[in-house]
Amino acid sequence: MSKNVEISVKNIHVDDAFWNHRIENAVENVIPYQWRVLNDQQPGAAPSHAVMNFKIAAGLEKGEFYGYVFQDSDLAKWIEAASLSLIYKQDPQVMQNLEDVIGIIEKAQQPDGYLDTHYILKKPDKKWKEIAHGHELYCAGHMLEAAVAYYTVTGSDRLLKVMEKNVDLIRTIFGDEEGKLPSYPGHEEIELALMKAYRVTGQQKYMDLAEYFVNKRGHEPGFFQEESFIENSTRDKTMQKDYHQAHAPIREQKTAEGHAVRAMYYYTGAADVALENGDESLVEALRVLWKNVTNRRMYITGGVGSQGDGERFTIDYDLPNDTCYTETCAAVGMAMWGLRMLKIEPKSEYADVMERALYNNVLSGISEDGEHYFYVNPLMVKPDVANYRSDHISVETKRVRWFGCACCPPNVIRTLCGLGGYIYTQKEDAVYQHLYVGNEAVLSTSQGEIRLSCTSQMPWQGEASVTYHGPQGGKVFFRIPAYAKGFSICKEGNPVVYREENGYALVEGGLEDGCTYTISFEMEAQFILANPRVTEDCAKAAVLRGPLVYCAEEADNGPWLNDFRACLETPAELEKRDLFGGICGLKVSGSRSSMECWDADTLYLPAAKVCGREKASLHLIPYFLWNNRGEGEMLVWMNTEA
Ligand SMILES: [Zn+2]
Repeated sequence: MSKNVEISVKNIHVDDAFWNHRIENAVENVIPYQWRVLNDQQPGAAPSHAVMNFKIAAGLEKGEFYGYVFQDSDLAKWIEAASLSLIYKQDPQVMQNLEDVIGIIEKAQQPDGYLDTHYILKKPDKKWKEIAHGHELYCAGHMLEAAVAYYTVTGSDRLLKVMEKNVDLIRTIFGDEEGKLPSYPGHEEIELALMKAYRVTGQQKYMDLAEYFVNKRGHEPGFFQEESFIENSTRDKTMQKDYHQAHAPIREQKTAEGHAVRAMYYYTGAADVALENGDESLVEALRVLWKNVTNRRMYITGGVGSQGDGERFTIDYDLPNDTCYTETCAAVGMAMWGLRMLKIEPKSEYADVMERALYNNVLSGISEDGEHYFYVNPLMVKPDVANYRSDHISVETKRVRWFGCACCPPNVIRTLCGLGGYIYTQKEDAVYQHLYVGNEAVLSTSQGEIRLSCTSQMPWQGEASVTYHGPQGGKVFFRIPAYAKGFSICKEGNPVVYREENGYALVEGGLEDGCTYTISFEMEAQFILANPRVTEDCAKAAVLRGPLVYCAEEADNGPWLNDFRACLETPAELEKRDLFGGICGLKVSGSRSSMECWDADTLYLPAAKVCGREKASLHLIPYFLWNNRGEGEMLVWMNTEA
C-alpha cells in the first residue's frame, strides 16, 4: 500500500456553518462545564470524583477512591478534549487547568511509573492481577491519548513523559518473556493510543507493544484463568471470551463479537498497526470484520451494539430499535475505525459509514446546549414504556447532565474538538477529502505545501467550495458520497472533467493554484428499507437525506407514532423549520387510524369493524436533534402502507 502521511489535527481548523456553534459551544462552555463536573462542583450532575481521586493518590488530599474502576479515563478524555480545544481558543483558564491537573497526575504517578488511582488507592495488592476487568490498560490508553493531544497542540511533553514512564512499566509487565504476563488488555484502547504515541515520537517501543497486544489477543492463557474472568463469565453469559474479542486471534475472527466499544477500539488499534507495518493478513481480517459490522450488524444511524446486557453485539440482523444499546462511545469508535480504514485504503464506502456515525449516533449523544448527554441512542422510544420495562433499563428518555459511568460525554467533546482530524487523509502526495466540512487546512507534500480553504452547505445542501493553493496539478480527491446524485465539479464556475477512483473524484490534470472548485450534488430524501432478515424493520422504512437519518417526534406529531403508515409513493417533502437556528425538516405522507372506533377501553376489534384510516403526514427532524424539546415519543423506522 502507498504510504500514509499523518495530518496533524492542529493543521485543520474547522470553520463551518453547521459545526461552528457546536465546536464553539464545546470550547466556550462544555469544556469548563465538564471540568466543574470532574471536580464535583456542578450541582445536579452525578458525582465524578475523577480529579479528587488523583489528588488523593498524589497525597494532596485525604479520602478514599470513588467511582468505577475506569474513573481515571473520564479525566483523561477531558484532558484530550481540552487540549484539542486550544486549537480553537487559547483560553488561559483552560490552559491553567490543564497545567494544574497534569501537575497532580505527575505527583500521583508512583516511582515505578504506575498510574491508576483505583488500584493505587483501593487495591494496591491487585495491580496487574485483574486484567480482564481491571481497566488499567484502558485508563493508560486514554491518558496516553491525552498526552499525545496535549503534546501535539501545545508542544509540551510534560504528560507524555509521565505516560512514557507508564508505558515503560507496562512493557516490563506484559510480554512473552519469562516472568511477564503473556496477556492483553481486558478493555482495548491502549493499542490505538500506543500507535498515536509512536507517530508523534517515532519511538519503536510504542508500536512494538501495540503490535504485541493486537496479535496476542485471543491466544491463551491471556486473562482467561483470572478469578475475575471466571467469576464474571460463569455468572453472566454475556461476558465470556467473545465479550472481550478474545475468542480467537483477530485473523480468525469473521464476525464482530462482544462489547461494542471494546470491539471498535480494538479494530481501530489493529488498523493503526496494519497501516504502519503493512501486514496484509491483518488488513484482510479488518475488511472481513468491517463487512460483517456494516452489512449485518450496524444501525442505520451508524450505531453498534444491539443489546444492553454486555453492551454488545449479538447476531447478524438483530437490530431492535427500542432496546438497542448503540452507545455513543461505540459510534465514536465506528468513526475512528472508518478513518483508519480510509488511511489504509481510501474507499468512499468507509467515509460513508464514518460520516453516518458522526452526524447521527455521535451527535445524538449530546444536547444542543452541550450539557446533557445520551449514553444509549435508541431508534424508537416510547417514554412510558422505556421508563417501566426492565428490558429498557439502559434507555434514558431524556439526556442527563452526567453519568455515574461517564465514558460518553467527554468522548463526544473530544470528537467535536478533534473533528478536523476526520476531514482528510493523505497518501504520499494525494490528499483525500472525506467530509465536506468547512475548514482551513495546511498540508505538506513532497511537491510543497498545500493550503485548502473549504466552505460547505452540508449537511443541508450538497455543495462545497474548495480553494486550492499549492503546486500545479495538486492531487486532491473529492469524495462522491453514496447518496450523491448528479455529482459535478466546477472550476471557477465552469464544469471540469474528473476521473473516479474508489468513490473519489480527481479533477483531470489536478488542481491549479489559486482556483476555487465547487462540488455539487443533489441530496434527495430517500425512503430506505432494511433487509427482510432484520425482523424489527420488516414493513418499515426510514428516511435519509444526505448523511442525516430523520426521525419523527411526538412534539411535532402527537403520540402513537407507530400507528402512522408512510406512503412510499409520495416523495418526502423538504420543510424549512425555524427550530434550532434553522434546519431542513421533512414531511412524509401516509395515514393514521381513524380513532372513532378506538376508545381507550377497546383493545381489539374485528377488522371489519375498524372504521378505517385517515390521510395524515409526519413531520420529521434530523435524528441527532431528537429530545431537545422535552420527553416524548420518537421513531426512526416508520410503518409503511401496503
Ligand atoms: Zn460511553
